[in-house]
Amino acid sequence: MSSAQLLRRRALVALTAAATVAAGAVAVLATASPAAAATCSAGYVALTYDDGPIAGTTGNLLNALTANGVRATFFNIGQKAQANPSLVQAQKNAGMWIGNHSWTHPHLTQLSTAQITSEISQTQQVLQQATGVAPKLFRPPYGETNATLKSVESQFGLTEVLWSVDSQDWNGASTAQIVQAAGNLGNGGVILMHDGYQNTVNAIPQIVANLNSRNLCAGMISPSTGRAVAPDGSTPPSASPTSGGGGGGGCTATYRETQRWGDRFNGEVTVRAGSTAITSWTATVTVRAPQKVSAVWNGSPSWDSSGNVMTVRPSGNGSLPAGGSTTFGFTVMANGQWAAPTVSCRTP
Ligand SMILES: [Zn+2]
Repeated sequence: MSSAQLLRRRALVALTAAATVAAGAVAVLATASPAAAATCSAGYVALTYDDGPIAGTTGNLLNALTANGVRATFFNIGQKAQANPSLVQAQKNAGMWIGNHSWTHPHLTQLSTAQITSEISQTQQVLQQATGVAPKLFRPPYGETNATLKSVESQFGLTEVLWSVDSQDWNGASTAQIVQAAGNLGNGGVILMHDGYQNTVNAIPQIVANLNSRNLCAGMISPSTGRAVAPDGSTPPSASPTSGGGGGGGCTATYRETQRWGDRFNGEVTVRAGSTAITSWTATVTVRAPQKVSAVWNGSPSWDSSGNVMTVRPSGNGSLPAGGSTTFGFTVMANGQWAAPTVSCRTP
């Protein structure tokens, strides 16, 4: 969409922003019980939101997504990200994936190689500054691409992502029409939506219900294929090898997220002995405020004074043979913060 369109829309969105904040708070409470469990047996689709971040709308969009327990990909415009770096961080903290959507949203196919390179490079830098990682996904404005653009994308290690379904939200589609468009998504599909439209935010609960009813889940976009896949790759296991602390061999701790709801997620830590057997272990799980651990199983927890650092010891016999492993699990109340905990292990 054009900047002029955006500006006209922004005034309208601002009027409804306050009402949406209130509605969002209610929605979080209403989904305190786990969202209807989708089996994901039919596969994954990617929800994508372009043209942000935008003060006054990105926050509402993130609230609606997290309240409905889904994660999406945001194709940000570099100039806007530079003006609102905290909103880019909010996207990341909400568990969203972030892609490059050029610096000024031009018709890239009408630009020189140098101009295209500048559009992409500046945006990569700003998004990397805000999130700590350079995006791997690029969506060309208007879906317009050519060989010159593809060549520049490859220089930055970017995968070009278009879409399989256009929600037409940029073209005035109603909430019902957006929901209907999402009904056409199949496994691996990607739907084009935009930050800045109230109809788009309002469509989220029905989109999620529709996907769930078809055993489809919201996933990430694979940088290797540009298609939707399971979100597992988003929280790569963080292994923390430690040297043996006098109790014999060392151990490693590996984290993975096992389930997510609108307000919380479950994590699992695998504790593995090194090349020699160990008689016991101590794992440390650090969550990021304002997250709170609300339950722990298969382990015996204690907390530091901040409440953010949890020490877990075996609930029974903690001995492990060389290379052997055990797991414990816990529930984290997100309180708006979806970053993965960091974990480590030591012996004893
Ligand atoms: Zn766009």
